[in-house]
Amino acid sequence: MTLTVVSGSGHTWRLTRRIGSGSEGVVYAVDDARPLVAKLVPDPPDPAAYRRRIARLVRQRREPRTVRLLSATPVPVAWPMAGVRAGGPGADGVDGYLMTDMRHAHQPFAHLLTPRARRAHLPGATWATALAAALSLARLLANLHAEGYVVGDLKPDNLWVDAHGRVGIADVDSWQFTDGGEVFPGRMGSPGHTAPERIGAPAGTAPDRASDDFVLAVLVHQLLMCGLHPFAGHPATGGDYLSYDDNVLHGRCRLLDRTSVALPRSAPPADLLPRRLTGLFRAAFGGVRPHASAWAEALAAEAEPAKLRSCRRNTLHVYTAERPWCPWCDLADRGAECYRAGQESPEGPERNTVWQR
Ligand SMILES: [Zn+2]
Repeated sequence: MTLTVVSGSGHTWRLTRRIGSGSEGVVYAVDDARPLVAKLVPDPPDPAAYRRRIARLVRQRREPRTVRLLSATPVPVAWPMAGVRAGGPGADGVDGYLMTDMRHAHQPFAHLLTPRARRAHLPGATWATALAAALSLARLLANLHAEGYVVGDLKPDNLWVDAHGRVGIADVDSWQFTDGGEVFPGRMGSPGHTAPERIGAPAGTAPDRASDDFVLAVLVHQLLMCGLHPFAGHPATGGDYLSYDDNVLHGRCRLLDRTSVALPRSAPPADLLPRRLTGLFRAAFGGVRPHASAWAEALAAEAEPAKLRSCRRNTLHVYTAERPWCPWCDLADRGAECYRAGQESPEGPERNTVWQR
C-alpha cells in the first residue's frame, strides 16, 4: 500500500517508509529530491486546533524571526514547511506536515551521550565536542526564547547533533508560541527532562522559558559528564531509587549535596567540571536558574582552546585546563572508559553506563 499526502494547495507527495514514531506522531520518509520527511499525527486532541497550529507555523516560516533561526548551516530547526493530509482531503484524513529530514546533516543527539554510541557513530568526539554541543544547544535555546518560542518538551529524542557538535531540534509542532494574539500552548516535558515545578502538574499546565532553562542545565550536564544525569544516584538515606524526577523533587543531586546520593565509582567525578560551570549548575538546580544566554556565554569561554588540555596517553582525552591531570585516565583506571580510541567489541559489556538508568 502506498501512502500519499496532499498539501492545501493540492501538491501530492509519496511516503516511502516509516522511519520513527514519537509520543503523538509517526515520521515517514518522503519521495522528493530534497531531504524531507513527513510527520503525521493520527489523533490530536483537537484536530482543527492542530491544523491551525501547523498553518500558523508554516506561515511564520517567512517571518524575519524564523528566517533568522533557520539561517544557520546546517539548518538547526526542522520547521514545518507545508501542512499535509494523508488519505486525501476527506474528513477522515490524518493531519501532519513536511519538514527537513534532520538525518541529512545530523545524527540522533543520544549518539553523543553514551560511550558505545559515541565510538560507533562519532568516533572522533571528545569532551571538546561535548562542550561545543552544549554551547550550540544553549545558543539555539537562547535564540528560540528571544524570538518568543518555548520548547516545552526539550529532551534528547527531539534533538540532533553533528560531528562538530552542532545541535538541531525537531518536533516544532509541540512548541508554545503566540501568533496574532492567539496563544498556542506547548506540550509538557518528558520524565527525566522536566523542571521540578512541572513534575506532576495538571494536564494543560503551560511550560515557560524557565522550565526550558532547567532542562537545558540537565542536558548540558549529561553532555559534559559522559551521559550522567545530574539527579542520578541512589538516595543516600537508604530508600529506594524511584526515578530522576523523584530525585529532582527531593533535591537529590550530587552537585547540590554530595551526601544526598550514592553513585558508583565508575561515575565521572564532579570536579572534572570547570568552576564557573559548577556554579551555574548549582544555581540551575538550586532554584536561581541561569538563562540559556548565560549558559552560552560561560560555555563559549570554557570551549576556548586556551581553556582545554589534551592527554598524552590518549588524544581523545580532552579536559579543562583547571584540572592538574586527566580525569578520563582516572576513570579508565577504574574500568570506566568514557573516551576510548579504537573499535568497541560488539560483545563487550558497557560497564560505565550502569548509572544511566
Ligand atoms: Zn587521559
